[in-house]
Amino acid sequence: MLKQSLLYLSESPAAKKVVTGTPLSRKLAQRFVAGDTLDDAIEAARVLNAAGLSVSLDFLGESVATREEADEAAEMAIRTLEAIAAQGIDGNISLKPTQLGLDIDEEMCRRNVERVLQRARELGDGEGEIFVRLDMESTAYTERTIALVEELRDSGFRNVGTVLQSYLHRTPADVERLIALGTRVRLVKGAYKEPDEVAFPDKADTDRKYVEEMERLLQAGTYPAIATHDEEIIRHARRFAWDNSIPKESFEFQMLYGIRRDLQTRLREEGYNVRVYVPFGDSWYPYLMRRLAERPANVLFMAGSILRESKVQRFARPAALGAGLLVGALAGLVMRPRRHRRP
Ligand SMILES: Cc1cc2nc3c(=O)[nH]c(=O)nc-3n(C[C@H](O)[C@H](O)[C@H](O)COP(=O)(O)OP(=O)(O)OC[C@H]3O[C@@H](n4cnc5c(N)ncnc54)[C@H](O)[C@@H]3O)c2cc1C
Repeated sequence: MLKQSLLYLSESPAAKKVVTGTPLSRKLAQRFVAGDTLDDAIEAARVLNAAGLSVSLDFLGESVATREEADEAAEMAIRTLEAIAAQGIDGNISLKPTQLGLDIDEEMCRRNVERVLQRARELGDGEGEIFVRLDMESTAYTERTIALVEELRDSGFRNVGTVLQSYLHRTPADVERLIALGTRVRLVKGAYKEPDEVAFPDKADTDRKYVEEMERLLQAGTYPAIATHDEEIIRHARRFAWDNSIPKESFEFQMLYGIRRDLQTRLREEGYNVRVYVPFGDSWYPYLMRRLAERPANVLFMAGSILRESKVQRFARPAALGAGLLVGALAGLVMRPRRHRRP
């Protein structure tokens, strides 16, 4: 219930205004976001690369409302690609289709993505073109995102792939569709608020389907990305790959910036390819709320960490607790009407 409430808040402009307006919300976001600027992201990438981890840089933003914003997002993606090439970063980028205008005009969105892919192609080094991943958003966009990837592949772009979410009923068919297309798939559990008609309400079903789809991708997919922090599933992936003689180089694990850093480095030390998804930019509100929804204990956990680490503890304490409690209280407000409906 708290998870659903936090996901509901992630889409609420009023809650956004309240949460981003509190002094320490930004500090909370820093747990999961590399910084406001491209330089911050490159610096974070350098540190991760030094530990043997590759990156996918994501300029935060989604659901833009104007053509200008969509164009700016495409320009920023291009600048990010240029920085990756110029600074010798071991990395690629992730983009949200609605950030490049999918909600405004599909044709314009496709042109924007093509522009980015073209630049990524030009900037490639001896090892190939820079790869661009289209993140998967809510089910309002699933079909359009997959169709966009198909069109781009038809136009000759090989450096594009997308994401599939195991909580959706439709995903087994999409797995087969993308295997046939030969694109790279990142498999995730899914981070949006979806109705039961399209997504499994029980986490156990999402986890079970994840394992089935992961096995299928490991056997037949093109360099799949197993994107999860679930240790049980990661153990299963390793065992499955070993039992089926699937080489470590033919897939990668992916995790989010700031989450399970211990597991990221452990897997790398064991010889697996590990990529960290590194978000940056100041539009961090919905991203932060989705991360809190995945683990509502984060609300208090982060407030506690800030208290421990703050150099100005005496002054920061009330504000940190305030920010944590604010998110909790907002979530509580959202939950209350539902309780009335279901006594
Ligand atoms: C690289 C990457 C890219 C992603 N891209 C997309 C995308 O394009 N579209 C999409 O819908 N979703 C995306 N997601 C999010 C994904 O759908 C899940 O919501 C998220 O990964 C949490 O699920 P989990 O697989 O880690 O498993 P869970 O069962 O949720 O968690 C397993 C364990 O991981 C730890 N954990 C998980 N989340 C957190 C957190 N936020 N904070 C602290 N600990 C945590 C906890 O210890 C938990 O017990 C992405 C995730 C990753 C890793």
